[in-house]
Amino acid sequence: MNHPAPVIGVPTNVLVEKAGSFPGTVRASVNQDYLDALQAAGAVPVVLPMAGPDGIAAQLDLVDGLLLSGGVDVAPGLYGEEPEPGLGEVFEDMDRHQIGLALGARERGLPVLGICRGLQVLNVAFGGTLHQDLAALPGPVLQHVQVGWRHAPSHRVDLAPGSLLAHIFGCQELAVNSFHHQAVKALAPGLRVCARARDGVVEGLEAAEGPFLLGVQWHPEGMVAASPDMLRLFQALAGACGRQEP
Ligand code: MN
Repeated sequence: MNHPAPVIGVPTNVLVEKAGSFPGTVRASVNQDYLDALQAAGAVPVVLPMAGPDGIAAQLDLVDGLLLSGGVDVAPGLYGEEPEPGLGEVFEDMDRHQIGLALGARERGLPVLGICRGLQVLNVAFGGTLHQDLAALPGPVLQHVQVGWRHAPSHRVDLAPGSLLAHIFGCQELAVNSFHHQAVKALAPGLRVCARARDGVVEGLEAAEGPFLLGVQWHPEGMVAASPDMLRLFQALAGACGRQEP
């Protein structure tokens, strides 16, 4: 008998219609490329709409793992800071939903993969802080909002030897795309940095111990068509769900 494919929950982002027939309409949104990548990795994605604490627990009952996708900025009040001029759009209720899912998944030992904003949500969930706008930093910073194609690698990242991320890719350096203006400032307790850009910006983090928890600052879901190795991240998440053993 075949074991069922792992079910991966993907919380929705808030998308407020700015034009069209119904401006102001709030939509629950997930980019298709995350769902395609999960399915290509043999998982069954399920979309999880914003919910309160009871809803979060019920959602976690349904899934074997979690993928936190990219999206808008995280509300700085959630890590004890006031909004700075470079902060973008935030939706605190959405942040609370995703942070609740991340903490709940960890409690239950469910594997979690965070991508871009998802990495930042993980860092905040476990007690870290963020740079609200890399452009406002005093030191030299590389271009982290690339102008080229979404699938095109832009800057390099160095992988920490011995890390989960280095194990997944089997190398010490990757070329990645980059579409973020925020980044990890103070790393959360229990996490460790597993990838950095050459300017020192954190590009990957993972749990120091325990079940699978990995965050990457780039967008592998946008690269898989041109760089099939990027599918390894989604395969690693699916494989960590423990429902794929023969
Ligand atoms: Mn970057």
